[in-house]
Amino acid sequence: MSSYVFPAPEQASVPIRGSSARYAVSRIFCVGRNYAAHAREMGGDPNREPPFYFTKPANALVESGATIPYPPGTKNYHYEMELVIAIGAPVFRASAEDAAAAIWGYAAGLDMTRRDLQAEAKAAGRPWDTAKGFEQSAVISDLIPAASAGDMGKGAITLEVNAVEKQRGDLSDMIWSNAEIVANLSQFYHLQPGDLIYTGTPEGVGAVKPGDEITGQIEGLVNISLTIGDPE
Ligand code: MN
Repeated sequence: MSSYVFPAPEQASVPIRGSSARYAVSRIFCVGRNYAAHAREMGGDPNREPPFYFTKPANALVESGATIPYPPGTKNYHYEMELVIAIGAPVFRASAEDAAAAIWGYAAGLDMTRRDLQAEAKAAGRPWDTAKGFEQSAVISDLIPAASAGDMGKGAITLEVNAVEKQRGDLSDMIWSNAEIVANLSQFYHLQPGDLIYTGTPEGVGAVKPGDEITGQIEGLVNISLTIGDPE
């Protein structure tokens, strides 16, 4: 046993619906653009771009139902409603079949984004960390094991702000399927249990402000909610 000069950070984890056990989280990967209409609204061409990825630290996770402060450093704080994959077996350079078998479960997620900082980073060719990988930027619902959720290849994905619908898509509109994402990401990483993948958002992203309540649903999964508090 090592001893540490400061206490070891708390292990990030996600609740599992119907279980007292939790899913311990190691890494959070996110797909940049995975719905054609959202790729177009962000100025991209969905037909020519292979998937690309960015990451968030595991300690950016926030459980659904939380109230979080409006984050510092932004005037354009956006929601992105997403399906989240939880990996349950080691996969490296996987086929689509092996990738599918490595998906342990699914959750609903919010990829919270400082859109103004992302736009600046894109324009300057700089990294997205302050736009995407900041504190409390990865909101997640309880996980549902794939054994009960199925392959989640289709189903409505929706988001409301203050009960007004802002995003509506279908998982079948994803440019890259769940298994294709896992197979592609495994060309670059040794994926392991504890790795989460946010799979991209449909069109309709937008800004929230203090006092707003975000709610989201993915057919067959646990609903997600988030309340935006005052700035710190
Ligand atoms: Mn996203």
